[in-house]
Amino acid sequence: MPKKLAAGNWKMNGSSASAPEVAALLPRIADVSCQVLLCPPATLVTSMKNWAGSSDLLIGGQDCHANESGAHTGDISAAMLADAGATHVILGHSERRADHGETDAMVKAKTRAAHAAGLVAIVCVGETEAERDDSRALDVVGAQIAGSLPDGVTGDSTVIAYEPVWAIGTGRTPTLEQIGEVHDFLRDTLTRQLGTEGANLRLLYGGSVKPGNAAEIFAVSNVDGALVGGASLNSSDFSGIIEAL
Ligand code: PEP
Repeated sequence: MPKKLAAGNWKMNGSSASAPEVAALLPRIADVSCQVLLCPPATLVTSMKNWAGSSDLLIGGQDCHANESGAHTGDISAAMLADAGATHVILGHSERRADHGETDAMVKAKTRAAHAAGLVAIVCVGETEAERDDSRALDVVGAQIAGSLPDGVTGDSTVIAYEPVWAIGTGRTPTLEQIGEVHDFLRDTLTRQLGTEGANLRLLYGGSVKPGNAAEIFAVSNVDGALVGGASLNSSDFSGIIEAL
């Protein structure tokens, strides 16, 4: 099993003025045993790589195009992210699925592109509130996993983030039992599909993780880290989460 992972998704936030926030995080992550990753907007990947200096802070993108280059105005490729200093890329976040109509097939093509560029793909899955109310959470994440992962996925190349859509940025979280049920289901599904690699794949929980709830979430079976949105923008909150991992 690779190390646990604390990943921060800055979404469309941050600027050149964010350097002190990253500088404040670096001493807090110096001695932790998990991997720490920040995914800023693409405009800040190179700057953040420089701000990280010789620390162990990893840098990732928030999306990539499925093609390596070409006539795709406004898009960036996985190879460009890697060239800018990224080692990871978040794919299929529910905000991309909702705002940009991303389908499982598109996420699969992007995941393939990320792997070809040597990036670790963090593939996001999760049900809406209506789907959970309809007792379809496991069916939905099962279908997203089946549709979004290309052949050849390994524990080193891919991470899965379970992010219930209704918990993202809302301050609401599932019960620990609900998180455990989905993570156990994902582990079983992936192990059946991929054998040992499925057992090695890290499963992150994401959705309103904060310093105050991180420890109890990380104690749930098959939770191997977190994908953190809002709380990753503040070095003190993010380090509080990392220290609970
Ligand atoms: C996210 O955007 O992936 C996320 C989990 O956001 P938040 O932590 O703010 O709910």
